[in-house]
Amino acid sequence: MALEVFGKIVEPVQKTRFRPAGWNGKKKLSIIEAVISSPKKLVLNNFRIVDESQDFHGSVIVEDGMIAEVLEGEARAAGGLVIDGGGLVLMPALVDLHAHFREPGAPEKETLESASLAAAAGGYGTVVCMANTDPVTDTLAQAAAIKHRCDALGLIDLYPALSLTRGMEGKALSEITRAAHSEVTRLFSEDGKDMPDERLFLAAFAASRRAGVTVSCHCDLDGEDAATGRALRLAARADARIHLAHVSTAAAVDLVRGAKQRRSGPAGCPVSCEVTPHHLALTEADAAALGADSFGKVAPPLRSEADRRALVAAIAGGAIDAIATDHAPHTKAGKERGAPGFSGLETAFAVCHTTLAAPGSAERDTISLSRLSSLLSAAPARILGLGAAGPRGRGRIAPAYRADLCVADLDAAWTVDPAAFKSRGKNSPFAGRGLRGRIIMTLHRGGVVFQQTAPQMSFPRN
Ligand SMILES: [Zn+2]
Repeated sequence: MALEVFGKIVEPVQKTRFRPAGWNGKKKLSIIEAVISSPKKLVLNNFRIVDESQDFHGSVIVEDGMIAEVLEGEARAAGGLVIDGGGLVLMPALVDLHAHFREPGAPEKETLESASLAAAAGGYGTVVCMANTDPVTDTLAQAAAIKHRCDALGLIDLYPALSLTRGMEGKALSEITRAAHSEVTRLFSEDGKDMPDERLFLAAFAASRRAGVTVSCHCDLDGEDAATGRALRLAARADARIHLAHVSTAAAVDLVRGAKQRRSGPAGCPVSCEVTPHHLALTEADAAALGADSFGKVAPPLRSEADRRALVAAIAGGAIDAIATDHAPHTKAGKERGAPGFSGLETAFAVCHTTLAAPGSAERDTISLSRLSSLLSAAPARILGLGAAGPRGRGRIAPAYRADLCVADLDAAWTVDPAAFKSRGKNSPFAGRGLRGRIIMTLHRGGVVFQQTAPQMSFPRN
């Protein structure tokens, strides 16, 4: 018996794992409806397999939640569930270095459940959530509690960032001093609060160096360019790894480029940076149209077309390491009052694909799907120290990496409707926009955790 999913054939070799309630043999069956929970063996046949170092037609065999084999052509199924991809793209699940999950403290904006569902729907398998919760996430016990509650949902892996100072008050260091070899936190950040006290900032960098964890700097104090220069200077003095969050100006990109050249060495580059999909795709004109002090407000603000072009060129030129969402859900009333940020998990891939990689993109500097995969998966995984093969390795499609994967239909054309978001934050600057390319399935540790069922148009392939 073969089942049809997205018009493709799915062959349930282990029929007991399929419980197609109400399936009449004709209706298209949602894999989620079919309740597949992490089959022991899964064969993903007939996919275009893309990660940062490969792009070819082949198959992947998953065993016990790990990638066991990657082959050219078709894999022979010997037991297990077989999914025929019909040539769709199979990529590593995306890794987000920067999101706000609002728990604890603001369930009206987001919860771990709604955020996890949104992340899975966006193709994400691993997310770092920022520490500006209520209370602030400044102890390892708090970070562990958030991580364990989220990971238990089984949709994504969450790594809460630890704040640099207690209560984000800028007075005394948090438990970053005790976080060496932590399994719980892989990134330190004071989020939107900068560190006005230089001595404390240096002490935080020194603690991060001892812990072997990167500090993500948001650089808002006295303007992005000045704050970026200051953070880079102090990190170099402490010889610590630094990651610049949501770089948004041409000048800040130049500063990062310069710092990378100065600090590159055999130990690997200790300077990395991210940009957001909204800074790559939108400008201050979009912010004005949405309401610069309400629905178009974000930190850092949407910039000039010249800045936006500089970011796109830096992506193509390799100066930017990662794309991160800065997913920042708010209530409608909060946005009306000027709360900064957008919900971004569910549109990130499509916005980046449409802007940077889709055929017919308006940009001069387009990139390959492999490069896009690197920016969204392998590079952020490396920044978190999760990029090498092994039980925790992710971001690549290779043996001994985790089977955190997503399936994309690059030809799907769809219109963003925030009302349909799984996130509780329904505010998106892309509302009503047509995008090209969509995540249609996400697998976490070899189990299907999301499948797109909404109707969508597909352009014929040529
Ligand atoms: Zn943020």
